[in-house]
Amino acid sequence: MRAVLDLAALQFTPLLDTLAEIDPGSVPAPNSWSALIRQPTSGVDSFAIPDLFVADDTLIVFVGARDLGGTTAGEAAPGGASIAFTSNPTGSAWRNQVDARGETGELDPMPSDFGPWGGWISFDTDTNWNLAAGLPAAGQVDFLSVAVHELGHVFGFGSAASWDEQINFGDGTFIGATAQGVHGAPVPLAVPDDAHWANSGLSPEPAMDPAITTGTRKLLTPLDYAGLADIGWDVPLALLPEPGTGMLVTMALVLLIGVASTRRSAPPPRAERPPPPGRAAARRRGRRRSRGWAPARG
Ligand SMILES: [Zn+2]
Repeated sequence: MRAVLDLAALQFTPLLDTLAEIDPGSVPAPNSWSALIRQPTSGVDSFAIPDLFVADDTLIVFVGARDLGGTTAGEAAPGGASIAFTSNPTGSAWRNQVDARGETGELDPMPSDFGPWGGWISFDTDTNWNLAAGLPAAGQVDFLSVAVHELGHVFGFGSAASWDEQINFGDGTFIGATAQGVHGAPVPLAVPDDAHWANSGLSPEPAMDPAITTGTRKLLTPLDYAGLADIGWDVPLALLPEPGTGMLVTMALVLLIGVASTRRSAPPPRAERPPPPGRAAARRRGRRRSRGWAPARG
């Protein structure tokens, strides 16, 4: 199962962002933080992991399974954070490091980027899973496909403030420029949560619509990558093959270069690295800020 999770994470490794590390040992007390998750095997909310170390260019994703009830195969969200920081430049840099990983734009009044430390995923225990890397048999739910989908929520689909910023709540569409460029119009969102693309009418079927047909596999499509780009991720142009006409010439050049470099090597997986041993919780004083994300089911 771990190997299939690593395969799912490979869908996100082309992203070119540079994420700052979060090293609680690098800042003087009382600066500190706790990562907050919904504990994946128990469902307990605001489960705190004190002083989590997150390496640069890495997301840590806590994964477990429990009975999610109904037909829900998975649920996930970016992790929250409880941050203690001092009112000086050191404290403010520390807060930015934890909250936005150095990505400019996330902390703006109208957020335009997203730099999470990671998050959590729960998979359902009584789903008829295909846990293999090979294609699912009839009647099976494809674990790789659901893992890719849930990682999409960890990366901000339906969960980042920068996602919400680009929803037209009047007609339930997503108006991010890159997604509109790929789709050719504002992209219909699923009702009622606005956290997924619409469940029908999009071709090829995106990974980030709310449902998966048993016996099928879905990976990230150009529309999914466009959504990631609009959330603020630096998506290589080669993964967005239907840009506006003005970009076509540039695109052809980038595609040639992109293909060559893709064949050379793939970057190491960014998600699913195991967390290092926890550090002793430090005494906390000073200001504190908490942030949490509503999980997306399915
Ligand atoms: Zn979902």
